[in-house]
Amino acid sequence: MDLETLIKNARRNEELLRQLQAMELKLLACRQWQDLFDVLFDQLPHTFNIEKLEISIIDPDRRAQASIERQLGPLSNNKWPLVLKKKLYKDDIDRRMLQKRDLTHLGFASGLQLPLPKQDQYFGHVRLLSRDKDRFQPDMGTDFLAHLVAIIAACFELVMQTEEIARLAYTDPLTEVTNRRGFHHAFQQEVARAKRQESLLGFALLDIDHFKLINDTHGHLSGDRILKQLCSLLTQVLRPSDHIGRMGGEEFMLLLPGCDNSHLATIMERIRDIISHTPFANIDGEAVVVTVSGGIGTATNQQLRDMSFEDITRYLDESLYQAKETGRNKMVQAQFKNSRQQHCTT
Ligand code: GH3
Ligand code: MG
Ligand code: MG
Repeated sequence: MDLETLIKNARRNEELLRQLQAMELKLLACRQWQDLFDVLFDQLPHTFNIEKLEISIIDPDRRAQASIERQLGPLSNNKWPLVLKKKLYKDDIDRRMLQKRDLTHLGFASGLQLPLPKQDQYFGHVRLLSRDKDRFQPDMGTDFLAHLVAIIAACFELVMQTEEIARLAYTDPLTEVTNRRGFHHAFQQEVARAKRQESLLGFALLDIDHFKLINDTHGHLSGDRILKQLCSLLTQVLRPSDHIGRMGGEEFMLLLPGCDNSHLATIMERIRDIISHTPFANIDGEAVVVTVSGGIGTATNQQLRDMSFEDITRYLDESLYQAKETGRNKMVQAQFKNSRQQHCTT
């Protein structure tokens, strides 16, 4: 090999190493599934001049599937080249050049399969696929790429753990709805979206009536059971895009995106009615009547710009107090005023 060719090869290797390192940094910066999938399935094939990157992983307890679906919705609706399997065969976790039988039915001419390592085992593989038959050759060095795939494996675990920790931090362990912190996070996201889309946000602050009496009559464990039943009922009657937060004790806040005042009043009246007619059960299975009172209100775009979460809660709380004072088992509409309106009336 002459000097010129050697220098050319060295430059090419240097460039490849630089690209690999830049890609590793991008992968390691991902904390959410969407970001990881964008880098893996979009940016990485483009950078390394291949047509497609495919991933298969073993997910016998559906831990990965559950984590991905909590962030991105049903996997069946997504078209990522990601397959989650109960088990993989030895052939599936070998480091190997893909053969004709692996490639032709997929429409590719060459490909490389690299296992995803986890401690001293493997939990799946990555396949790099090209329509160029010379792109992946049996004599090519694959150590750089195997290193990259080890980084991909670590990123999978990191994103999954990050999602699981966030879920625990945002979930009320008894009822499994979001806790105050999680609800506040959802509130911030929904307010940002409502401002972008110029849409309304409906709110309701619900409190179980005479819950202390329920506890005193049926015991604290029955009280816990009723809290759980109420949350599963609310989850069933609301849309998946609505939010339920346990703000403390027997007080819950709902956020219904895109809901105007009259729509909100109709929905909340229906929910109040369903709860009062649902046979809740104490720990002995005996029926308990449960009713809720609520303060409800819709915030316009301008009000969302002018009011904080605390302002909205205060208005809802005043209406909830009125509902309690005037007989319970009812919803009272709050009139949100933004700071300018407040100023005009004082
Ligand atoms: P009101 O109709 O005015 O809301 O009356 P209330 O009895 O529901 O209100 P109060 O604030 O007097 O009592 C709330 C009760 O909720 C007291 C508290 O022990 C109970 N509670 C709070 N958190 C829990 C919980 O996690 N489990 C159970 N079982 N009870 C709880
Ligand atoms: Mg109460
Ligand atoms: Mg209360």
